[in-house]
Amino acid sequence: MVEPDCIFCKIAGGQLDAEMVHEEEEVVAFKDINGQAPAHVLVIPRRHVPNLEAMADLPDAVAKRLFEVSSEVAKKLGIDEGGYAVRINNGPDAGQEVFHLHLHVLGGRKLGMP
Ligand code: AMP
Ligand code: ZN
Repeated sequence: MVEPDCIFCKIAGGQLDAEMVHEEEEVVAFKDINGQAPAHVLVIPRRHVPNLEAMADLPDAVAKRLFEVSSEVAKKLGIDEGGYAVRINNGPDAGQEVFHLHLHVLGGRKLGMP
């Protein structure tokens, strides 16, 4: 459930500092260290799940909470009315750098694709 060398496991476990935005039993949200928009938060499950292919290891309720917390965080940051993007980079072509599943919540400016 926890990978000793995973930085997001360390943040979730309190061994590594991050600017927390939301904390609950199974899900935490914290500011991205290299924000790409005025608001840029990462929402993660506390349990170590590397990518979408391992989603079966997450209880359904936790998977659902990731999306609900994304919406709650957007509201907390005041970007819910302007709109925001929720993005998962999965695998090399998407540029995934941290192999602990995370949802980027981005807002506060106009966002384009990809
Ligand atoms: P990716 O795996 O490409 O979806 O992106 C990983 C994200 O994690 C990047 O946006 C990084 O800026 C962010 N990141 C890496 N280390 C930390 C950290 N210690 N605290 C907060 N964000 C981080
Ligand atoms: Zn992890």
